[in-house]
Amino acid sequence: MASRVLRIGLIPGDGIGREVIPAGRRLLEALPSSLGIKFEFTDLKAGFETFKETGVALPARTVDVLKNECDGALFGAVSSPTKAVDGYSSPIVALRKKLDLYANVRPVKSVASAARPIDLVIVRENTEDLYVKWEKTLDDPEIGVYAEAIKRISVRASMRIGEMAGIIAQRRQKLRESGVPSIHNSACVTVTHKSNVLSQTDGLFLESVRESLSRARYIHDKVALKDQIVDSMAYKLFREPEQYDVIVAPNLYGDILSDAAAALVGSLGLVPSANVGDQFTIGEPCHGSAPDIAGQGIANPIATLRSAALMLEFMNEGEAAAKIHAAVDANLVEAKLMTPDLGGQATTEEVLNDILKRL
Ligand code: ATP
Ligand code: MG
Repeated sequence: MASRVLRIGLIPGDGIGREVIPAGRRLLEALPSSLGIKFEFTDLKAGFETFKETGVALPARTVDVLKNECDGALFGAVSSPTKAVDGYSSPIVALRKKLDLYANVRPVKSVASAARPIDLVIVRENTEDLYVKWEKTLDDPEIGVYAEAIKRISVRASMRIGEMAGIIAQRRQKLRESGVPSIHNSACVTVTHKSNVLSQTDGLFLESVRESLSRARYIHDKVALKDQIVDSMAYKLFREPEQYDVIVAPNLYGDILSDAAAALVGSLGLVPSANVGDQFTIGEPCHGSAPDIAGQGIANPIATLRSAALMLEFMNEGEAAAKIHAAVDANLVEAKLMTPDLGGQATTEEVLNDILKRL
């Protein structure tokens, strides 16, 4: 097979990002050559340390190289200063904008042997809703000082996130049909919203997602479509997480639900994510820079390894991704070499080596 070259930008950022991103690189380098993929890596800067060194959190070069010389990227984490610092703002938020990465995709999966199996994906809209940050503080003779924020929901953004959810549901369905074991018999997309209160904004989200899914023929007899009010979803997600397959949500509910869902599988150190657009994907572990354990060599690399697999899935390298998932799952099932967040005593290096061996 002719080999393909994939150019990957590596942005470690701050704290444990500097420990887990090199692990991600070594994982990609260790993929069997029979897959026919050759990786080329470029190290790129961003984050609070970069800001302290250079005065900018996201150097123009990082954006240029990602746009013009990379096929995908891995992002570690950036520390957010506790007090607002003049001129500093989150580089990953800026990157999502600049590269139009409109979907945040977060799979939450338990180990195969778990008493309560979970295998769901949250697909979060990533460009609008309350995150447009149009806020103002006003004063009124009757109510006194008050603040307002705008929640923007557009047909375009809602349609494309619906379509993304449909693509993911279909991809998962195909895997199931090809014999990959799954806790779900069939695919189901659940749209979450609060249209009983916010009939216009959330109503438009629900209607647009439905429309995009049916128009794109994703919803046929094999992919069911449901919708659920977000508060009832939060309740059920905790009581019966095994019921959910693909969840699609506007930005704010998606943010909250995806952090909450991460709690269901034990450690933040296990949960991957991908920032996805039509042209580009950045894999990113869900955890932050974890200053409390940074520099000790004990960060769990699994969230990053899974993020690398997720990035590959969106680059149409499903076979490579499946190999990574299988190796990680085997490490977790055996439960011998684990970092302290999972109750073990292994280092980042030892866990990585164990997973590389299983590749
Ligand atoms: P930030 O401001 O960068 O988000 P944080 O203090 O919120 O930093 P997180 O990275 O969000 O820290 O982590 C929250 C907790 O989970 C911390 O106690 C951290 O040590 C732990 N944790 C996060 N990621 C990992 C990991 N990969 N391995 C082990 N523990 C982790
Ligand atoms: Mg955090």
